[in-house]
Amino acid sequence: MCIFCKIVNKEIPASIVYEDEKVLVFKDINPQAPVHMLAIPKEHVSGIAEIKDASIVGYLFEIMNKLAREKGLTGSGYRIVVNNGRDAGQAVDHLHFHLLGGRPMQWPPG
Ligand code: AMP
Ligand code: ZN
Repeated sequence: MCIFCKIVNKEIPASIVYEDEKVLVFKDINPQAPVHMLAIPKEHVSGIAEIKDASIVGYLFEIMNKLAREKGLTGSGYRIVVNNGRDAGQAVDHLHFHLLGGRPMQWPPG
């Protein structure tokens, strides 16, 4: 079982920010910004290429936007990132959206 499935199953701890029957949002263990959360479907999907029911993506965006609003990022801005595959630096093969905010960020990424 992958590490994020273990977090879903509460086999390993995480700082959970939001949870319902379909999705889980928790703080990144190695935050790259004052706000850095990971939003995942509870069902294991290894990456964006493996998404079968795209409605989960829209739902995750709804939840992330709600959390960004609650964290006061709506005015200052925030970034939502998916790293997919080796060249993009995907380290965990369970689909996850990074929600980053609370500081100015550069573009393009390295
Ligand atoms: P990625 O490189 O897009 O696959 O991102 C994986 C992210 O998962 C990294 O930002 C890690 O810091 C984060 N991460 C890895 N293990 C954990 C964990 N046990 N709890 C919270 N975040 C984690
Ligand atoms: Zn998984």
